[in-house]
Amino acid sequence: MAPVNIILLGPPGVGKSTQATLLGKRYPLITLSTGNILRAEVAAETPLGLQAKAAMESGRLVGDDLIIALVRSRLEQLPRDHGFLLDGFPRTAAQAAALDEMLRELHRPLTVVVQPILEHDEVVRRMSSRRECRSCNAPHTVRPEQPLTRCPSCGGELFQRLDDTPEVILKRLAVYEEQTSPLAAYYQKASLLAPVDGHGAPQEVAMRMISTIELQRLQRRTEPAKQVRTINA
Ligand SMILES: [Zn+2]
Repeated sequence: MAPVNIILLGPPGVGKSTQATLLGKRYPLITLSTGNILRAEVAAETPLGLQAKAAMESGRLVGDDLIIALVRSRLEQLPRDHGFLLDGFPRTAAQAAALDEMLRELHRPLTVVVQPILEHDEVVRRMSSRRECRSCNAPHTVRPEQPLTRCPSCGGELFQRLDDTPEVILKRLAVYEEQTSPLAAYYQKASLLAPVDGHGAPQEVAMRMISTIELQRLQRRTEPAKQVRTINA
């Protein structure tokens, strides 16, 4: 069967990176997280990495063209028997249209756009329970019933990052929703969008995602995804 090509579409805090790891155990796929790709390219000082670095150092956002070129370079290197999972891309409707064109050229059709659904309260609850160790930088989760003040691995002091406070998280969620709701509509129109309940243990959520992916896979075999040429927000 053809490899699965997935977009994980969801705000920060819904557990996308955990799900990407779990899906990677079930399917032969490579996770492409634009955040990680950017950091790797900047560290390796590739031509694209140097351009991105210059943009970031001058306080500008890394532009669509550059992000698209980075994703393209990774997709071109992808082994034929592997699929991909995109995390953090596309983020705008322009990026989605560019991705469509790229995937047509590379003959790697999208299988499904999985959208984990979790209400904002729950995202805030999850994110505000994150702590980091001042000594070894390890991330930890604190639970109300099990308060944790010291790092279990090294005994260092745990602290909460400033951007993990409820006010900042809610603001980021609002920005995210505003930016990506046209994207969800775009993939809905292409019959690719699959909302999945994001509650419960990571394994449970992964099981729901796998059922959804398998269902879409069967449908793709009989009826290819519609092509969307225009974007209506
Ligand atoms: Zn520590």
